[in-house]
Amino acid sequence: MMALVNYDSSCSSDETIDEIDCPENRTSLANNLGEPLPKITKKGSLPGALSLLGTERATSTTINEHHDNPAEHAGRIRSFKHERGNWATYVYIAVRSEQLEDLQEVCQQVLANLVNDLHTIKDLHISLSRTVVLQYHLIDSFVESLKNALELRDRFSISFRNLHIYTNEERTRTFIAFKVDEMHFDKIHQLMSKVNGIMTDYKLQRFYEDPSFHISFLWCLGDKVAFLNEHFTMLKSSINIALGESETFSLLIQEINCKSGNKDFTFKLK
Ligand code: AMP
Repeated sequence: MMALVNYDSSCSSDETIDEIDCPENRTSLANNLGEPLPKITKKGSLPGALSLLGTERATSTTINEHHDNPAEHAGRIRSFKHERGNWATYVYIAVRSEQLEDLQEVCQQVLANLVNDLHTIKDLHISLSRTVVLQYHLIDSFVESLKNALELRDRFSISFRNLHIYTNEERTRTFIAFKVDEMHFDKIHQLMSKVNGIMTDYKLQRFYEDPSFHISFLWCLGDKVAFLNEHFTMLKSSINIALGESETFSLLIQEINCKSGNKDFTFKLK
């Protein structure tokens, strides 16, 4: 399939992606609701679109309820109707960090006997938007607006030291995450505000009123917030040991990403 736009900032299309996508696999999977769905190939690799295309979106878009067989994808529920011309779209910061991958492993080992079916998140990211449904003919201008709003901004560093447990709005899934340190909140918030403005222009849902920027790195089914918080101290001390004296890790944010259907767009910061 041809790329829709070809910005300097880079755009790529992935022909091999799976049928649906979700926050934990945002950067590798696509949800091109405008295309017929390919056959599910890998068990366990399929995400839950309920969290991606939350049920509240069904009221404001052409997406309708459609439940499939949860057993086919690690118990996660898919809840949307495939509608030609509607593309799942989201804006995020892709995170590549070996240090974080190591910490992911540490946490997974610590929790292995406590939580069944704990999954690692392969495509680590910081969300700057919800997943919205964009009509195919609007993608070009939407991406152009993002480019104009984001590319003039300076790159910056952020740090992380605090763990936090999140659930999706339906409380069907729980995420273990590193929360962006308070001192860097404003920088990310400014980016999110730019994205929010564009969402408003396109009559799409804005990000959370009370945003909490984070990198989810493990997830499990159900609402396990209370349970995980009971083990929080143990988890935190394992993380601190792995992090060493600084008890923090940092990332340089150099670009913002957007995925629309199976198209990837990258906006370089200055
Ligand atoms: P993410 O790692 O960005 O995919 O987010 C994981 C989950 O955190 C999503 O399902 C969000 O719905 C959830 N979440 C809950 N509260 C918030 C919040 N205040 N800000 C951002 N995400 C949130």
